Amino acid sequence: MDSKKEEMRRKHIKLHMEGALTARDKVGVQDFVLLDSYTSESAFMDNLRKRYRENLIYTYIGTLLVSVNPYQELGIYTMKQMELYQGVNFFELPPHVYAIADNAYRMMCSELNNHFILISGESGAGKTEASKKILQYLAVTCPMTESLQIARDRLLLSNPVLEAFGNAKTLRNDNSSRFGKYMDIQFDFKGIPVGGHIISYLIEKSRVVFQNHGERNFHIFYQLLEGGEDDLLSYLGLVRSTQAYFYLNQGRCAKVTSIDDKNDWETVVKAFSIIDFNETDLENLFGIVASVLHLGNVHFVEDGDGCVTIPDNSQIRWIAKLLGIHLSALQEALTYRKIEAKSEEVLCPLNIDLSVYSRDAMAKAIYGRTFTWLVNKINGSLANKDFTRKTVIGLLDIYGFEVFDKNGFEQFCINYCNEKLQQLLIEMTLKAEQIEYELEGIEWEPIQYFNNKIICDLVEEKHKGIISILDEECLRPGTPTDLSFLEKLEEKVGKHAHFQTRKLAGPKAKKRISWLEFRLLHYAGEVTYCARGFLEKNNDLLFRHLKKVLCGSKNGIIKECFHVEELENRKRPTTVGTQFKNSVANLINILMSKEPSYIRCIKPNEGKEPSKFDDFLIRHQIKYLGLMEHLRVRRAGFAYRRKYEHFLQRYKSLCPDTWPHWHGSPLEGVEKLIKYIGYKPEEYKLGRTMIFIRFPKTLFATEDAFEF
Ligand code: ATP
Ligand code: MG
Repeated sequence: MDSKKEEMRRKHIKLHMEGALTARDKVGVQDFVLLDSYTSESAFMDNLRKRYRENLIYTYIGTLLVSVNPYQELGIYTMKQMELYQGVNFFELPPHVYAIADNAYRMMCSELNNHFILISGESGAGKTEASKKILQYLAVTCPMTESLQIARDRLLLSNPVLEAFGNAKTLRNDNSSRFGKYMDIQFDFKGIPVGGHIISYLIEKSRVVFQNHGERNFHIFYQLLEGGEDDLLSYLGLVRSTQAYFYLNQGRCAKVTSIDDKNDWETVVKAFSIIDFNETDLENLFGIVASVLHLGNVHFVEDGDGCVTIPDNSQIRWIAKLLGIHLSALQEALTYRKIEAKSEEVLCPLNIDLSVYSRDAMAKAIYGRTFTWLVNKINGSLANKDFTRKTVIGLLDIYGFEVFDKNGFEQFCINYCNEKLQQLLIEMTLKAEQIEYELEGIEWEPIQYFNNKIICDLVEEKHKGIISILDEECLRPGTPTDLSFLEKLEEKVGKHAHFQTRKLAGPKAKKRISWLEFRLLHYAGEVTYCARGFLEKNNDLLFRHLKKVLCGSKNGIIKECFHVEELENRKRPTTVGTQFKNSVANLINILMSKEPSYIRCIKPNEGKEPSKFDDFLIRHQIKYLGLMEHLRVRRAGFAYRRKYEHFLQRYKSLCPDTWPHWHGSPLEGVEKLIKYIGYKPEEYKLGRTMIFIRFPKTLFATEDAFEF
């Protein structure tokens, strides 16, 4: 380490230590394991509040980072800060997202193993920002060669492209990710980033056709209309007005002060050129984006015989041109349903509702599949076949637990995913603790914790779980409905301790459950789901007739997304619930084989305001993020542990035998040191390479006696 950096680092440690010595009451502790009453939620809140007031947004629970969104620029992501955290021992500097990134990176390089960083929290808590900070940190601080700069740039630029297509303004967040994202950053044996791979989860397709008041559709639509050149817009048959498009004007907030669509368009276009999209790709891609807008403006009228027609053909004409499909075939597919009876095909007219349904289904299907295509295309450009031996750091930016006034199929899926991730966290933390104790030769003291496998099983078990019951109901001949699904649930899982409905709970239930609702007792608390829409969303049906038309498309992307085999395959397509369950299982497998780091993000208030700490809201998140449980597991045995070398290095000045130089083994040095300062036997244990200290007060006494 060069001397300037060393000096800076020392200065920082000194400042930090002085802070710890003189103002622990003011700025709180930087690691929750050092709280005296570590099981008290109020003590936890107090510590978080104290730190937030001082703009200290990061706090550890051991190696887990808790981050509270500051909703303001704090100047803590500068080049200087990046340099500071580079290659420094994890606990030597104040908690920071860079410390998490640096630690994962250094461990990966030294142990040649794979890592992941799981970032969770509710909408607007700062997950995506944290993941971008990590990516930037790695891009800036990792070694680099000229030939690999392009790989790094592509990794960075995949973000604006995916955000354009997958993010939207919601009531909670002006740049809300409407999909889950897992990204592997791949490194060669020298620690140079050489490539990457992205997996996306459950893009919110319903937003394409409907937005709540105050919300927008995906950013790309507005960017294209604001920033696209005149030539491009006229090629796509679009006018430069969001008001002109039904799919864009339902939320009545096309303009957002915090968003510069024109500028973002330029960034996206530049990114496309670096990520290897050619003219044809872009033509096809924007052809699809424009087709969605045209589709939204297709209107239907019913004639006297109840037959639906499309009075104005102009939109359909544009769609047919841009997607390379037959005008008449598309028109027919939107207004008729083809029923195959024996060897014959019979055309059956749709009513207005079904025509609108099929129009919206088509818009959702083409957008959703194009998003998947986009991710695959980006993966193609991030892939680097020159390096076979790679290690990776995976970044998971995924929706946290969602509990709204009304919770539907999406919340059910998201909360199930969180239930699985919680299980992984607890298992991995316990395992890591146990392994560390074993390696250190310290007796393992079993920890009581809530194992949420029982809830995961309730949702996912084959034949018996809620997803299987839903699938069965979707497949059942006759007229299955959301209500019949709920009745099946009552029949099959009614006795489960974590499941309730109105009928089962009875009128005396503490919190009322309404008709068509069921309640799950998640690890983090109760969530009441409304079963309305579960069947439709799980089926995600696109009429066969429409699919057939799309399979004949000449638009290169649509052609790749809709295969004829899909039509020939008579098996029912996998339902959305089962697809999601499989992808979550796959994700857990990916994570299980890697070393974990965790970031838990907290949103401080609903108003996106700086410096406002809303107790009620934060308490709720602490619960749903499972932070108290994590702290309890982490603190069950010992509050603090350090390698002998580091402990000695830090405190050697307290003992004349070890100061200024200790020439014996680090263990003997520590033994001398703690004997001199008077640790009692019940306060600590000595492992093979580390000292374990049971209570925070022991450490604080040492810190307070310590003069830098
Ligand atoms: P969603 O689940 O909706 O995608 P999210 O958790 O990804 O939400 P972000 O988009 O990361 O939330 O953050 C929301 C906003 O909060 C950002 O646009 C930014 O304005 C602000 N923000 C988040 N983290 C920070 C930070 N570390 N410093 C300053 N501002 C931040
Ligand atoms: Mg996000």
